[in-house]
Amino acid sequence: MRVDETPRYPGQALIDLDALAHNYRILSGKIGQADSLVIVKADAYGHGAQKIALALYEAGARWFGQAQLGEALQLAHAFKKAGLPPLRTAPTAQTPRIFSWISVPGLDGDELRVQALENGIDLSISNLEELVEIVAAAQTTGICARVHLKVDVGNSRAGCPRDVWDSFFSQTALAQADGKIKIVAIWSHLQSADDPAPEAFAETKTQIQNYELALEVAKKYGIIPEIRHLAATSGGLWHPESRYDLVRWGIGLYGLSPNSAHETAKELGLKPVMRLRAPLLSVKEIPAGQGVSYNATWRAERNHWVGLVPLGYADGIPRLASNRAGVSVHTREGIIRARVIGRICMDQFVIDLGINPPAAKRGDTVELFGNETEIDDWAKASQSVNYEIITRLGPRVERIYYGQGETKYRTEAGEKN
Ligand SMILES: *Cc1c(COP(=O)(O)O)cnc(C)c1O
Repeated sequence: MRVDETPRYPGQALIDLDALAHNYRILSGKIGQADSLVIVKADAYGHGAQKIALALYEAGARWFGQAQLGEALQLAHAFKKAGLPPLRTAPTAQTPRIFSWISVPGLDGDELRVQALENGIDLSISNLEELVEIVAAAQTTGICARVHLKVDVGNSRAGCPRDVWDSFFSQTALAQADGKIKIVAIWSHLQSADDPAPEAFAETKTQIQNYELALEVAKKYGIIPEIRHLAATSGGLWHPESRYDLVRWGIGLYGLSPNSAHETAKELGLKPVMRLRAPLLSVKEIPAGQGVSYNATWRAERNHWVGLVPLGYADGIPRLASNRAGVSVHTREGIIRARVIGRICMDQFVIDLGINPPAAKRGDTVELFGNETEIDDWAKASQSVNYEIITRLGPRVERIYYGQGETKYRTEAGEKN
């Protein structure tokens, strides 16, 4: 018997690269003179970082954001393979830049930082420990590190807190004078820019003022960065004064709104990039009184037709959405909506096809989501946000790319498509 060594799984995510390019154009068109940085962290929010980054490069993006340094290096490698200009040569309009802001301490981190400098990746510094580590990498390689200094303007995540800005900027200014680092940017991240409530707007204003203050303190030490960046999608869309020189677009690129209660993707002119589907495995009738899936959290009051879908929480389908979320079944007689009933399992879940024999049959396509409303419904059904629904889609789900950007660059991940 021949055993196929390439695993094959039933679920497929269709990734529309035309929609991606469209979203990039819409978003970058909203911010006047400011430039765009495209965030491709977490495998481009589950869409596949290499393919997405290359399609965005093709659409005109030159700044790329990858949270983790190891992933940033993979991206640099993919750019090299695709024949893009190397990051470390004298930059032209065609040169991409990669910015990464999570690098760990210890030996592994030291090795990655050395590779980062060799590959021309921009790094973030939030504290003096990171400064020491990056200066060490600069010493090892003889390469001046391009850094973005991160200040905490109120989110309490990464970033140097306000009461130590003086020592932070004086020490980084010294390292710059010493030729170990080049301070490219001062940056931060807003906490509540997606929230339309007046108090949240006031908080965002305060955070922008804090950022302004950081720029002033830095100036005292002779630091005047080429680039100031503060806004993610929500700031870029809803707080024009936070755009500065560069807006870091994440969720908007993937065609979703950071908060559709504020403004929907459709209202923003964005198109969802991902559709998730799987074939229907079976259709059958169950008798009145019978429970569905583990622990019978749903029970048929009368005879019911049920369908079985081969995706589960191993694929990132949230178990919390059991008995709540819905899907579309594409039958020969048209599309029918069906609710998830019973517990979502590891590899499969059951849907309710009603009390009459349905048009649905084994092999019909079940679409879990393909538009913002459906993605938001899955998010609501699992007490989460649209970000999490797309990002945690598991590696077993095959990504299938279509649209213009598809054939231009070859990537390791994409060749089988
Ligand atoms: C994820 C992230 C972004 C993008 O956020 P969106 O809300 O998806 O636009 C921007 N900046 C930083 C630092 C991030 O971690």
